[in-house]
Amino acid sequence: MSDRVIPLVDQRLRGLVARVPEQAIAANGLLGDTLGRPLRDLRISVTDRCNFRCNYCMPKSIFDKDYQYLPHSELLSFEEITRIARQFVAHGVQKIRLTGGEPLLRKHLEILIEQLSSLRTAEGKPLDITLTTNGSLLRKKAAALKAAGLNRVTVSLDGLDDTVFRAMNDVDFPVADVLGGIAAAREAGLGSIKVNMVVKRGTNEDQILPMARHFKGTGVTLRFIEYMDVGATNGWRMDEVLPSAEVVQRIHAELPLVQLDPSAPGETAERWGYADGSGEIGVISSVTQAFCRDCNRARLSTEGKLYLCLFASQGHDLRALVRGQASDEQLASAVAHIWQKRDDRYSELRASLPPDASSGGRRVEMSYIGG
Ligand code: SAM
Repeated sequence: MSDRVIPLVDQRLRGLVARVPEQAIAANGLLGDTLGRPLRDLRISVTDRCNFRCNYCMPKSIFDKDYQYLPHSELLSFEEITRIARQFVAHGVQKIRLTGGEPLLRKHLEILIEQLSSLRTAEGKPLDITLTTNGSLLRKKAAALKAAGLNRVTVSLDGLDDTVFRAMNDVDFPVADVLGGIAAAREAGLGSIKVNMVVKRGTNEDQILPMARHFKGTGVTLRFIEYMDVGATNGWRMDEVLPSAEVVQRIHAELPLVQLDPSAPGETAERWGYADGSGEIGVISSVTQAFCRDCNRARLSTEGKLYLCLFASQGHDLRALVRGQASDEQLASAVAHIWQKRDDRYSELRASLPPDASSGGRRVEMSYIGG
């Protein structure tokens, strides 16, 4: 018998009902959850498909030709996404990150960006609109994305050595093309480019220093992400996590670093500057130093479920409201009602949970909920 793990595709289809409360909840930008955390950051997954098969995220053994992606009719349209996003913005969201899957695989994404960039915060300011991408299509699309109103971009790149990187993306994609995408983003004027590197002990830890040397002094902020236990298909093991403290030590030994203050509340990365003033790096320690306390992020899945935590097993079905008869006021109240009840702090609790007490195998995949 095969021991193939079937990821709970159908976990995606089971959703919690998003209830419209009897009393409307005013959208005044002051919403707080049970721990007093405001709603500031919305991550929107625009597709569950990706052209890479990074084994820590979408391993080939699971995401193969038989994998059932969401059918197109299930996906939120750009108009539906914008309508939902407008309610989040009214409740205080200031930043929107488009993600996936690989967001640049969604056709005409620039139309969505144009629509989102017309939204204004409660104070009348434009949103900070950004995108996380594997960079493979960036060379082709950077100029159009910028023209549509994209402010910034984060590119994922797990190493500079072509053999290491091709093995990690598992589709033989070359480093040079991602670097070309980063250059195109810079030429297009997409400001403050970030590069995310997931560090897996024993797989690409030897890429930490080459990556730091390469991006130092270029204006690109390199961020090292601890390999996380998201989803249920990547076979995560704690011994493959290289703690961020060790990443900082290794870089500091060759390129001295000084710790910097966070630039915004709820920021996921701890900032370190090069002592010679030639830029900074970030470390995202979601495993060894959880930062749930400040988490101000909500996630909207490809088919319109609202997830309150990357490690959640179920989302609240906003699409049912959008495709039903709900007014904007009812939709905004439903969002507020869900956020006000939020008490998730999975990463902080992880250490104290017995191994079988977490949602473990029932967690949704990062490629579906968005990174
Ligand atoms: N396809 C886009 C990309 O590659 O950036 C966006 C989606 S991807 C899920 C977003 C980010 O999540 C990437 O930087 C990826 O490396 C990171 N990621 C995926 N699985 C992860 C894991 N298990 N631990 C840490 N980071 C992970």
